[in-house]
Amino acid sequence: MNKKVYLETYGCQMNVHDSEKATYMLSDLGYAQTSEVDEADLVLLNTCMVREKAARKVYTRINEIKRDISKAARGKKLPVFGVMGCVAQAEADRLFERSRDIKMVMGTQAIPRLPNLMEQLDKGFDRVIDVRLSKEAEFLELQADNRQTKHIAYITITEGCNKFCSFCIVPFTRGRERSRPADRIVEEAKSLGKQGYQEIHLLGQNVNSYGLSGRYHGNLVSAEESAGITFARLLARVAEESGVPRIKFTTSYPRDFDDEIVRVMDEHDNLCEWVHLPAQSGNDRVLRAMRRGYTRREYIDKIEAIKRSKKDIAITGDMIVGFPGETDDDFSETMSLVAEVEYDGLYIFKYSPRPRTPAAAYADSITEEVKTERFLMLQDLQDRIQKRRYERYIGRTVEVLVEGMSSRSSSDYTGHTRCNKVVNFPIASDMLGRLAQVKVTEVKSHSLYGVMVKA
Ligand code: SF4
Repeated sequence: MNKKVYLETYGCQMNVHDSEKATYMLSDLGYAQTSEVDEADLVLLNTCMVREKAARKVYTRINEIKRDISKAARGKKLPVFGVMGCVAQAEADRLFERSRDIKMVMGTQAIPRLPNLMEQLDKGFDRVIDVRLSKEAEFLELQADNRQTKHIAYITITEGCNKFCSFCIVPFTRGRERSRPADRIVEEAKSLGKQGYQEIHLLGQNVNSYGLSGRYHGNLVSAEESAGITFARLLARVAEESGVPRIKFTTSYPRDFDDEIVRVMDEHDNLCEWVHLPAQSGNDRVLRAMRRGYTRREYIDKIEAIKRSKKDIAITGDMIVGFPGETDDDFSETMSLVAEVEYDGLYIFKYSPRPRTPAAAYADSITEEVKTERFLMLQDLQDRIQKRRYERYIGRTVEVLVEGMSSRSSSDYTGHTRCNKVVNFPIASDMLGRLAQVKVTEVKSHSLYGVMVKA
């Protein structure tokens, strides 16, 4: 290996996993990863469009990196800059128009074709791009050896989305929903179990839609899926056959989330006590304008099913404030929904339009000031709820997968509980990658603190 790639990842776990896949493809081409930009021959930015002005941030970041390189190694030839992820897919060749530095644009389904792009650059093409989307696109599979994380592994089970919520760009950047054959998923989970992985995350934009779109698109879904394997069935198979002690899944979509999933979670100890179920609003009219396909009552029914579980399942969610046309009364229903559900964690977003989405054409009647006011009110409510939810853990012993050193203190380990809460505790012995039993002694703003009582 004599070439180096510097890669920055923004956004969700799907992007983290895509970065792993890109790194694997590049390692086959002789690229080693570096954390120093001035050593890099290739700089890749894996981008996300959840936040506003994502494309602009790409140009800003490239300029910052260029400045860092020129400070560190004056006169050095600049690396090749590449953009991947949702911004690459959505902006495509507009990125070339706006930045002379960008030489490669790789769409969300193009990672398996990364060697072709690199070959074209080697042959002297000035700029290369691949943003093809296909509902037949293959899933790139990673072996345990090719993964960057040694204790937690991500497994893609679906990609893309057919829901077309009016505010969301994912169906345009990730393409139509495709499900991966169940046998391939179970095999991957089993091999990770054999390699000693302590936790796997089943990933998809909508994991509970698993297999559903396959029936309509006739894509990669195998005969077994066509016969009707649901997400709940898949989850049960992974739990029974993988041998992995902790299994999590994200993201769930309320309309496709059913009681059967809760029943399967109840039956299998290795299915962790955490469901991320975004509501986005607590008001029916706004939910209709968002094209979410469920009412507040239907959403609450799903939450009640989760709360009836014999396990103590933590519920997290996403909420958008200031959606076009959202009145004070509509917003108060979002507040009351949050109070009723009592989320363990909530990601709150101020609405901002995304290009090509239906909502971008709606009159955005809510001022930035009102959006900020609603954001702060909801955040304040959630902080109070979260404090109460977290305080329940004081005195309890929780299982923590030790993932590394705390960023706040080099004398503390950090990891997650089965219910996906961050726990920090003083380093006692070499526990990296192992499961520790930690007694919770303190609640911080978004984490728990404790002491290890048993390895
Ligand atoms: S379900 Fe809606 S919000 Fe979620 S990825 Fe699909 S379109 Fe986006």
